[in-house]
Amino acid sequence: MTMPHLVIACHECDLLHRLHSLRYGERAKCSRCGAALYARKRDSFLHTILLAVTSLILFALANSFPFMTFELHGRVQQSLLSTGVWEFFERGMWELGLLVLAASIVFPFLKIIGMLYVLVPLEFHYRPWKAALVFRMVEQCQTWAMMDVYLLGVIVAVVKLADLAILVPGVALYSFVALIIALAAADSALDPHEVWERMEKIR
Ligand SMILES: [Zn+2]
Repeated sequence: MTMPHLVIACHECDLLHRLHSLRYGERAKCSRCGAALYARKRDSFLHTILLAVTSLILFALANSFPFMTFELHGRVQQSLLSTGVWEFFERGMWELGLLVLAASIVFPFLKIIGMLYVLVPLEFHYRPWKAALVFRMVEQCQTWAMMDVYLLGVIVAVVKLADLAILVPGVALYSFVALIIALAAADSALDPHEVWERMEKIR
């Protein structure tokens, strides 16, 4: 079926194509360069919602339980996910603190909440207030949510401190790793074309 008013540009060579609605599992390719234009994913909404809810639970665990316990000469110190951020603030490096806070806590949280805010009502045929704006924000958060960079920093610190102190990873660290995986899976399950299509249908 052709949707006459909908046209899509190939992101590789800019050739314009008329949009056809695809069946589940089908994939549209550029007729000039062969790049994938879009694919229809099976049960995209349900999978994305379930993965976003999982991410939200993992986010709560990662932010409330101890991240790492250090033991040095009998002195035990427990740190939280946010401890690194406060350390930066206390040392006057607030730009760095803000960057870490944004990339590891604020943007991932906004992304999860934004996904649920748009997808859950649409699944029940109701269009939430400012849905388009919020969904654009979700797509923007993709660029700024860089939890893997935070994790890389943690790994470097652990390797450096391993000889000096005893380090015990906490519940939050495991939850944080699982959160990175769950959020990546939610991204891959999400089908933006279907979200925009449903938003257009429900007015
Ligand atoms: Zn092309």
